[in-house]
Amino acid sequence: MRGPGVPVELVGSGPSQVTSWTGVAAEHPFGLHTLPYGAFTAAVDSQPHVGVAVGDAILDLTTATRDLLPEHAALFRHGNLDALLAAGRQTWTLIRETLTRWLTDDQHTDALAPLLLPATDVTMQLPFTVADYVDCYSCEQHATNVGQIFRPGQRSLPLNWRHLPVGYHGRAGTVVVSGTPVTRPSCQRRGPEGTVTFGPSTALDFEAEIGFVVGTPSALGRPVPLTDFADHVFGLCLVNDWSARDIQAWESVPLGPLLGKSFATSISPWVVPLDALGTARIRPPVRDPHPLPYLDDAVTEPWGLDITLEVRLNGQLISRPPFAGMYWTAPQQLAHLTSNGACLRTGDLFASGTVSGAAPEQRGCLLELSWNGSAPLTLADGSTRSFLADGDEVSITATAPGPQGTGIGLGEVRGRISPALVDAAPRG
Ligand code: MN
Repeated sequence: MRGPGVPVELVGSGPSQVTSWTGVAAEHPFGLHTLPYGAFTAAVDSQPHVGVAVGDAILDLTTATRDLLPEHAALFRHGNLDALLAAGRQTWTLIRETLTRWLTDDQHTDALAPLLLPATDVTMQLPFTVADYVDCYSCEQHATNVGQIFRPGQRSLPLNWRHLPVGYHGRAGTVVVSGTPVTRPSCQRRGPEGTVTFGPSTALDFEAEIGFVVGTPSALGRPVPLTDFADHVFGLCLVNDWSARDIQAWESVPLGPLLGKSFATSISPWVVPLDALGTARIRPPVRDPHPLPYLDDAVTEPWGLDITLEVRLNGQLISRPPFAGMYWTAPQQLAHLTSNGACLRTGDLFASGTVSGAAPEQRGCLLELSWNGSAPLTLADGSTRSFLADGDEVSITATAPGPQGTGIGLGEVRGRISPALVDAAPRG
């Protein structure tokens, strides 16, 4: 068996380097090997359209398919990815092949060139209707760091952690697209002296994660095995699981996070299809103990992903978390989430959990980067951060190895913190 970090040769990993009449450079993160889908509006008050990113431009698929692919135009008519997600694996592959043909064959230039819009001229929208949202906790380094911060001297990993992908159900209705301002949440928290008060969080944090978007639903009562992952999951996006650590710490006993995370979760506007990621796939780490059969991926196709994330705070690079070392993969998360018979719906989003590497500069949240405030970060302007300040902007980007030395871009998820509402406390 290959070790972690060794690429796996697979069929169907997408086109190798090809030239395009659009002039997009082969090495562009959104080159023809990526072709991510999103939803955009071209002007204020205009209807959203579905688009595919081609370099720094967006091809308007809602308009293009009306004349050029009428038999599939209904998939793009409604201005989001919902219909495309529901169409299933065969259609996803067919559409991607069609787009590649359109963008590489000169005979389509006249029809499509007018539908290529500069990305800077449009406003990206939430790409799909989020059905259910689950966030996992699948990074061993993150879980170990959190354990050391909150339970020093005790076992770092909870007893269950190496047996199953731990997770919690989040709030689908507050998943927002990149660029949406994030208002500092107010809620109950318990101060250091034990006083319980209501007010704005003083420990607001980000979490750098990868999200997986479900297309094909599953039947209630029928678990989805590891081998069916690619039949159900359409693609990936970036996720920032904003977290108010003080609210979370007070409310999470004995159940999981509730208001500490439900105020906002930001996702990138572009969903990168699984079909684009063949060259990014690697063997996941060796698991000890050996997982139960429904989670045992030793003989299935590997779904480790060699993605490197970058986190910027007010434009300054503060971390480069490596996704390659994630202990539990997305197929294992999906198999676990459905192992009790829970069904999938089109638009379900499940995220990896915070991604952190072994080095301090690879930690995926401020809780770890500042070690819960005991070692604040110093920024380029001389100011320090234990947690986020009002006005701070967090940007997460990511890339993965593409064909022939290129890179696959996942775009960006960005959000700026707005001050708490002045009169946030509810009156009795
Ligand atoms: Mn999270």
